[in-house]
Amino acid sequence: MASRKMLIDGDANQTNENDQADYDFDLFVIGAGSGGVRAARFSANFGAKVGICELPFHPISSEVIGGVGGTCVIRGCVPKKILVYGATLGGEIEDARNYGWELNEKIDFNWKKLLHKKTEEIVRLNGIYKRLLSGAGVKFFEGEGKVVGPNEVHVIQTDGTKLSYTAKHILVATGSRAQRPNIPGKELAITSDEALSLEEFPKRAVILGGGYIAVEFASIWCGMGATVDLFFRKELPLRGFDNEMRAVVARNLEGRGINLHAQTNLTEIVKTDGGLKVYTDHGEEFVADVVMFATGRIPNSSRLNLEAVGVELDKSGAVKVDEYSHTSVPSIWAIGDVTNRMNLTPVALMEGTCFAKTVFEGKPTKPDYSHIPCAVFSIPPLSIVGLSEEQAVDQANGDTLVFTSTFNPMKNTISGRQEKSVMKLVVDAETDKVLGASMCGPDAPEIMQGIAIALKCGATKAQFDSTVGIHPSAAEEFVTMRSVTRRVAPAKKVRTNL
Ligand code: NDP
Repeated sequence: MASRKMLIDGDANQTNENDQADYDFDLFVIGAGSGGVRAARFSANFGAKVGICELPFHPISSEVIGGVGGTCVIRGCVPKKILVYGATLGGEIEDARNYGWELNEKIDFNWKKLLHKKTEEIVRLNGIYKRLLSGAGVKFFEGEGKVVGPNEVHVIQTDGTKLSYTAKHILVATGSRAQRPNIPGKELAITSDEALSLEEFPKRAVILGGGYIAVEFASIWCGMGATVDLFFRKELPLRGFDNEMRAVVARNLEGRGINLHAQTNLTEIVKTDGGLKVYTDHGEEFVADVVMFATGRIPNSSRLNLEAVGVELDKSGAVKVDEYSHTSVPSIWAIGDVTNRMNLTPVALMEGTCFAKTVFEGKPTKPDYSHIPCAVFSIPPLSIVGLSEEQAVDQANGDTLVFTSTFNPMKNTISGRQEKSVMKLVVDAETDKVLGASMCGPDAPEIMQGIAIALKCGATKAQFDSTVGIHPSAAEEFVTMRSVTRRVAPAKKVRTNL
């Protein structure tokens, strides 16, 4: 990869034959989601002439997959979090009774009102993202982008007009889309795209999948009063997370009224007069208003013509990149979900920033994937940073110390809600370094962001212990876990297939 070598040698402005060509743009970005917009703006701020394209979107239809802001803003994190707020309030209203609030009138939930408010907010954010681009001097084109050569893109507009531009660098930032399992009747099911814009509130919902989206939507719909049946293949949801915390999430979901069906898959969906009938591989039948697949996402690479110009894809369709987000074609780069590295918005932002620094600031910068915190916005949420107990024990040469705290949040003592918060620290016994932290309970993501800074700085358990708590708070438990819950020797490596 000639151009990568050039950059690593430290001079992004060094010229070669390629550099002397007269291009329309220094950078053309395909995809104006979180990563693409970040890369475009930062590159423009470093002096690059930047163009970017994105499909149009209709705020209440999910048929066209597009919109400046991308999945996170239009049909992902942001609208989902708005619905999580809406659903959480239902439980809070219940909790308020024992705090003296007399809720005499019947309390109703108006789905259409929330949906309308959510859509207004998404439209507002879409406008802000467009203004961010124009404010940075980035030229925006509405239409579908295709790579037609190492330095040439086409933008196909909705009326069929084809625009052609040349660029010294092309950045692919087209994200991912929901995938549907091949089950008879699969066309009757929806994905999270449609779930965020349903005309009618689903009073009976069936969800297939045990990942982020499945667990989050189960919490949303249940919190708003629906009957929710959640089907997943493993014994516990959220494969890949700390097993103990997965069990806590499962317990909490059940405690909130969600019906969990572990080790169960759907085999068929049939439309009936009474609703959608789903059949399971356990021989059971359920009837629902909505069946949602939350069975993972696949990279949006197939319509870009990438392989024809020499960009290598892996077998999942993800664009193969090196640690600088450089593809197998020297002038073409890729960031975000389309590369299927760590599919989170803040990671795409980091990759976009690193790309801009590497290519247009002349400072080769690799994204740092260590200590990336994340959260599952179930109700209550789970948030983690660093290693799970299983990962720590797996990687350790010496013993691993596990500290846990299970407690009744102070608010619940009055509200009467039966739901424990659980926190966990995983520590290297020899170095005392905290390797991982997790929490399931109210405000877990807000608390974990600060813990992530501590872990990134290499904090030891002794430093956690010497930090003064904020009282009374749940967060103070992280600095008051004095006694070891268990000590796990490396020989006791636990390998489960939960
Ligand atoms: P995930 O990859 O998190 O989970 C997919 C789930 O679907 C798993 O439980 C998997 O089961 C199951 N599954 C896959 N194929 C099938 C099948 N054929 N039949 C039955 N079950 C199946 O995907 P999501 O769709 O939930 O989310 C996609 C990505 O979006 C996440 O990985 C995450 O990166 C991102 N995201 C992040 C959020 C956040 O940060 N809060 C929120 C939402 C999404 P098994 O475990 O058995 O393989």
